[in-house]
Amino acid sequence: MAKLHLITYGCQMNEYDSERVAGLLRERQYELTDDETAADVILVNTCAIREKAEDKVFSKLGELKRLKAQRPGLVIGVMGCMAQLHQETIVRRAPQVDLVFGSPAIARVGELVERVQREGRTLVETREAPLVKITAKPASADRLKAFVTVMEGCEKHCTFCVVPRTRGRERSHPPEAIVAEVEQLVAGGCREVTLLGQTVNAYGRDLTPPTDLAELFARVNDVAGLSRIRFTTSNPYNLTPKLIAAMRDVPKVCEWFHLPLQSGSDRILERMNRGYTRAQYLDLIAALRDAEPALALSTDIIVGFPGETEADFAETVNMIERVGYDNVFVFRYSRRPGTPAAAMSDQVADEAKADRNRRLLEVVERVTGQRSARLAGRTMEVLVDGLSRRNPGELAGRTRCNRVVNFDGRGQVAVGDTVHVRVTDALPHSLRGTLATPEEAVCWSK
Ligand code: SAM
Repeated sequence: MAKLHLITYGCQMNEYDSERVAGLLRERQYELTDDETAADVILVNTCAIREKAEDKVFSKLGELKRLKAQRPGLVIGVMGCMAQLHQETIVRRAPQVDLVFGSPAIARVGELVERVQREGRTLVETREAPLVKITAKPASADRLKAFVTVMEGCEKHCTFCVVPRTRGRERSHPPEAIVAEVEQLVAGGCREVTLLGQTVNAYGRDLTPPTDLAELFARVNDVAGLSRIRFTTSNPYNLTPKLIAAMRDVPKVCEWFHLPLQSGSDRILERMNRGYTRAQYLDLIAALRDAEPALALSTDIIVGFPGETEADFAETVNMIERVGYDNVFVFRYSRRPGTPAAAMSDQVADEAKADRNRRLLEVVERVTGQRSARLAGRTMEVLVDGLSRRNPGELAGRTRCNRVVNFDGRGQVAVGDTVHVRVTDALPHSLRGTLATPEEAVCWSK
């Protein structure tokens, strides 16, 4: 068999796409290798969301140039968001690259690689194409937890974001195709799926007849053998009472929700074109907590967006404290070519961004630590997914609210089991616990 090496940068959707590519090439007799020096084909799946992600790709392509010099028959491909956005720059700056293709062309990866090998010239394939559900996957993808893309693209046009240009308009997969994929995953041992979309809560609007994420939850919930459903990423703008009710009522949907805020300042939210105010966001949080008090919340924040003052930043700090998130991802604003924010005249200096990033992380550490501390003494459902990283004599798993728990399985528990664990120590980034007695398990809290 020929050998394929995949290098994946960026979000879960890229991880998902890389697996589809590995599956499609497996059908053409390619097997995955971790060793890039042994590969016949190397594909770099790229992210364009921030400049740093792009720099990493060009530096990796520089390394691969040496490999190509030693082995001219090697095919090097660049796929994903950077391929879609910067095809010309890639071809110019990295002539060692033989193939550049965007996500619409993933379904044709086998044919594209063959063409490069046959024709011996650089191929660029970044045209729009109909959305196809690809379920091919490598053998290594049989595991407890899997991603399932339910829709592609985004039409929100946040002024900082490059995604509408890299992933195109919103297109949803039909529910039948998604359910069939989940069934196939469960047959391979999967117990937890994360439904993916750039704006996953806009799911289904474009289908005929239209549907929505709440209805999709109900259908995925019916897949026998599946234990848990997660979904990401949601946009506050599309968060409906119907979806909040479904999060409460559909049993397999976990008590974990990622809702990007981006900024706590109304002025900045407006300049970002987010479509909501801080008061509207807080109303959503209240409705969510009212529906599901055990809900864990996480968010994304951008610091140093053009025009952000210390007063705007203070409002973001205030929101983090007020909402009391369980996890926060903080990003320094990165100027993305072609986006409206890149052209704004009042860009924030790098030092100010770095300073706000550091200060916000301190707040996040304190707030998330307090949230974690609340879990001490509780008995929680844990899906065991491997050995503890710190102590391989112990097991590790995740709660429904997405916390890592390390515990001693006392030889009674195996990977893949769902057990109840009583939390003895709530550390900032993980929990420690002991197997719950049957009495404790009866009164478990999520
Ligand atoms: N579609 C989701 C939304 O906006 O609600 C988020 C998807 S995006 C792939 C993940 C995160 O990257 C965003 O939530 C945002 O915080 C961050 N991000 C996007 N563009 C950025 C930029 N130009 N600079 C810094 N961070 C950025």
